[in-house]
Parts: sequence; structure tokens; C-alpha cells
Amino acid sequence: MLENAYKKPYIAVDTHVHRILNLWGFIHTKRAEETDKIVEKLLNDKEKIGLNRVLVSFGQIICKPLRPECEICPVKELVECNG
Ligand code: SF4
Repeated sequence: MLENAYKKPYIAVDTHVHRILNLWGFIHTKRAEETDKIVEKLLNDKEKIGLNRVLVSFGQIICKPLRPECEICPVKELVECNG
């Protein structure tokens, strides 16, 4: 990961990052490559730091692809998803 390897602000867009940003309605993309290009343009360096880790953890523990834990989701009231 560039952020860890080179200490450069970079958000690695994996399946969780792509899925959650679309789920929340922040972006509307079909492929992770599109998401990567958009977040690189939209977010400043400070906003990129650690965001991958946060979204991946959130996607693994709370907003799981098959059975999201909506009843305990801390952002349920803040985002536009159907949780
Ligand atoms: S409310 Fe549910 S679907 Fe929405 S972000 Fe939280 S866990 Fe995911």
C-alpha cells in the first residue's frame, strides 16, 4: 500500500472502499478503478490518510457485504443507505 510503503497520502480503493462510498451515495461508480480516480481528485491529502483502513474495517465488521449490522451501525442516521 502506497500510504504505508512510501508515507504518501493515497487511498487504496479496494472492494470495501468502492462499495461503501457508493452505498453512502458519495459517488456513483460501477468499477473500483473509477472510484479510485474520483477519490484521488475529490479528497485532499489530509482526508486520504487512514481512510482505507477505516472503511475496510467498517466493511469487515459493521457494513458486511452480505449481512450488514445496521442495528449497531454508528453512521446509520448520517448516510443515505437503506440500512
Ligand atoms: S446502516 Fe447498514 S447498510 Fe448502512 S452503512 Fe450502516 S451497516 Fe452499512
